[in-house]
Amino acid sequence: MNIIKKAGIIVVLIYVVFVLSICQGEKRSLEQASLILINGNVITVNPQMPKAEAIAIKEDKIIKVGSNRDVERHKGEQTKVIDLQGKTAVPGLIDSHIHFPLLGKRLRQLYLDKTASARLAIDIVAEEVKKAAPGEWITGQGWHTADWEMKGYPDNSELNKISPDNPVFLVGMATHASWVNDKALQLAGITKDTPDPPGGQIIKNPETGEPTGILLEKAQDLVAKLFPPETHEIKKANINLSIQTALSMGLTGVHDAGVGYDVIKVYKELLEEDELNIRLYVMFFVPDGGEILDEYIIHPPEVGLGNNKLTFRCIKVFVDGALGARGAALLEPYSDSPEDSGLIRNPLDEIYKVVSKSIKAGYQVAIHAIGDRGNRIALDAIEKAQKAMPANELRIRIEHAQILSPEDIPRFAKSGVIPSMQPIHCPMDMGFTEKRIGSRRVKGAYAWKSLLMSGARIVGGSDTPGYPVDYTNPLLGIYAAVTRQDNQGKPSGGWYPEERVSRFDALKMYTINAAYAAFEEDIKGSLTQGKLADITVLSKDILSIPEPDILLTEVLMTIVGGKIVYQK
Ligand SMILES: [Zn+2]
Repeated sequence: MNIIKKAGIIVVLIYVVFVLSICQGEKRSLEQASLILINGNVITVNPQMPKAEAIAIKEDKIIKVGSNRDVERHKGEQTKVIDLQGKTAVPGLIDSHIHFPLLGKRLRQLYLDKTASARLAIDIVAEEVKKAAPGEWITGQGWHTADWEMKGYPDNSELNKISPDNPVFLVGMATHASWVNDKALQLAGITKDTPDPPGGQIIKNPETGEPTGILLEKAQDLVAKLFPPETHEIKKANINLSIQTALSMGLTGVHDAGVGYDVIKVYKELLEEDELNIRLYVMFFVPDGGEILDEYIIHPPEVGLGNNKLTFRCIKVFVDGALGARGAALLEPYSDSPEDSGLIRNPLDEIYKVVSKSIKAGYQVAIHAIGDRGNRIALDAIEKAQKAMPANELRIRIEHAQILSPEDIPRFAKSGVIPSMQPIHCPMDMGFTEKRIGSRRVKGAYAWKSLLMSGARIVGGSDTPGYPVDYTNPLLGIYAAVTRQDNQGKPSGGWYPEERVSRFDALKMYTINAAYAAFEEDIKGSLTQGKLADITVLSKDILSIPEPDILLTEVLMTIVGGKIVYQK
């Protein structure tokens, strides 16, 4: 064969391949969509195409993102078309740290949030007492003395009047205190002679020494432990309500920050019954001491069960406690309590053991650390364990990473550790944070911008039910991250405003970064062809409206896997 002939054959072959590939492309692009969204302000969080007008979906995946014209080519007879009328679509929002069953549980209790006075809260309880069976527990949540403009705590004299026979247990002050009546105290055997339990306080009348009905921190457990254990059915009902509520807030996925076998069973059951309308990334909680870790990690992780609805591949463990109750472990004593420097729930050796065992078994680890000392212990343990497995991208997470020593901030990016933070903690806690840790250390508190600048990928969550359940709303988290202000816009300009982040960075915390923290960035977190069709439609463009309007933005529609699961 001469050279000319050879060249001719090659040209023909190239031509054939070229034509075939065009035909293939044509065929793909003409795939019929099951659902099309048009006329939208589509914020994709995909750097290749940051903005678009329309999205085509086939079954549970995105098949096209682009202009109306591009996308309408996928319209067939069976295609449902939704005109977004200029509204904003973002990738389905993900809460990366939530105690998911407790969202529904709290909603099923009496709701005392935003009661304008103690009197109003008591009236709500009184109505409930009228309906209750003899001896039945009355439980509620969400009261706060700040809402009542009350300086100290209330006593239980009014609660005793309205409910002499039914025990009453009302959780408030962001879960740090409970308000109970005498009946509840009596059932728990709490008298003036009862000593404070470790980590808790029974408030007593300074004159009579009698308990007043306010139990702080761990003292709440003295009463809470009396509740009948939750049945499987109750847990399931709570979780169903959690799912409905989360979807109505625009969440298409959540990372459950630590459950046991009982809840795992409910999740699997809901999946089997095809009732799991939200995507769950579940952490298995290892109680202090780590005993049950081995029996859990003997089984390999379960990833993407039921078309990516349910994943178990993460182990949750605690280093320290919380800042409000001075449980966060600090390198130096608390500024407002010099004899205190917090508590260590699991020391370095123990954390190291949990991390190294878990990563060897193929699990991710999420370590709760709040104080600067707690975070240093977590980082030390992680770095030590990673040395043994340097080739693996482990994506170990530190949950909260709330107060950081300046020299530890760059260690997150350097060691590939993910700070999993809850922006809402900042405005909710700023009232006491500086008192607790002073003006020097406060610069490392909720240090979002510094972490981003150092190259870390922050993921955002709510930590519900740490605060009233309304704060699960991811838009409130985005607002907090962008402003460092409370919902009244205080303080003006933001609290330590140098740590505010851009709106886009805040959105990433709840989308692509959240997906990354669950090893799911290839299937979630942006509106990109080939990814799962998880979409949140908002009433306003959160990237351009005035900041206070973020709080007024509504979720109009939530789509999970191409299915409309919530519509306003
Ligand atoms: Zn938590």
